[in-house]
Amino acid sequence: MYRRSVFFILVCVLGLLSVSACFAQQAQAPAQQAFTGTPRAPISPPPVENVLLIGWDGVQRHHLLELLIAGRLPNLRALIDEGSFETIAVAGHATDTKSGWTQITTGYDPDVTGVYSNGRYQPIPAGLSIFERAQQAFGRDNVFTMMVMGKTAHTGSVCAGEPMRGPKKEQIEKLGQPFCNTRKALDVWDGDKQRDAPEVGAAATSALEKVGGKRFLALVHFSDPDHRGHASGENSAEYEQAIVTCDEWLGKLAQWLKDKGLYDKTRICVVTDHGFDEDAKSHRYAPRTWLATNDNAVIMGGHMHDIAATVLVRMGIDISKLEPAYPGRALIDAQPFIRQPAAARPTM
Ligand SMILES: [Zn+2]
Repeated sequence: MYRRSVFFILVCVLGLLSVSACFAQQAQAPAQQAFTGTPRAPISPPPVENVLLIGWDGVQRHHLLELLIAGRLPNLRALIDEGSFETIAVAGHATDTKSGWTQITTGYDPDVTGVYSNGRYQPIPAGLSIFERAQQAFGRDNVFTMMVMGKTAHTGSVCAGEPMRGPKKEQIEKLGQPFCNTRKALDVWDGDKQRDAPEVGAAATSALEKVGGKRFLALVHFSDPDHRGHASGENSAEYEQAIVTCDEWLGKLAQWLKDKGLYDKTRICVVTDHGFDEDAKSHRYAPRTWLATNDNAVIMGGHMHDIAATVLVRMGIDISKLEPAYPGRALIDAQPFIRQPAAARPTM
């Protein structure tokens, strides 16, 4: 009996000791992790070498998601599986081609570019495109820049007073197309032509052959969905097929990068300039757009002017120094998370 109670007391004492030790450790734990006054380092992903922007003109976000869910866009699916799919909103200008591609390729709003819509526009002032920004940052000879475009007028480079091919006949361009100045700065401009995906894709791969070991920033623009949407409507089989064709070319361009050993050094961003009016042949009000990328640093959606900011920041360019000031921000997790020192925290 006595032995048993001694044993019982011993067990109780040991138990109490271990419980109190545990509490003591818990009480010490916060003190050990207390803020030391040094902010945590910014969570900045390392910059990437190359960015390939691929434009699918006039692709409605909801229709794209329907095709994606139905498994009809396997190459876009593979891209998103590596990175992300984000929603992008258009605000401050028309939901049309000129203003969309101008904003995507500059990061500026129309008050800076002068491109408000397909009817109210001017050449983008020299030096403002992301291609010229890359040249300014890395040196003109250290980065290869190119635009291969699938439309005439709205993504054109014809300057004021020059002849251009209109929808029906040749005419004189009055105002100057958005890329009149940009064209002169690029290593490759291949546009001002109305053509479908196979021709654009072939032109893009032959232009990319000229990269020659440099880092590159490129835009390849496919116009098929917009044209099929205007001709047959947003809910037509033709519109869907045009998006599927764009997906096939995404696969071919990604494969080209893999064959050249460039895929791992390149982030692909697939974007559109505007959506499409539901079940219609127009995009009068179609601000719901999107960004699909294999870049897993991209973690949020935003405004259309954020796309250019994202591209430049991912290439390691400091957008905080740009003039005029950039309205957008990079859609990545790069904000330093700074904890307040304990003394500065409000007391409860
Ligand atoms: Zn259109």
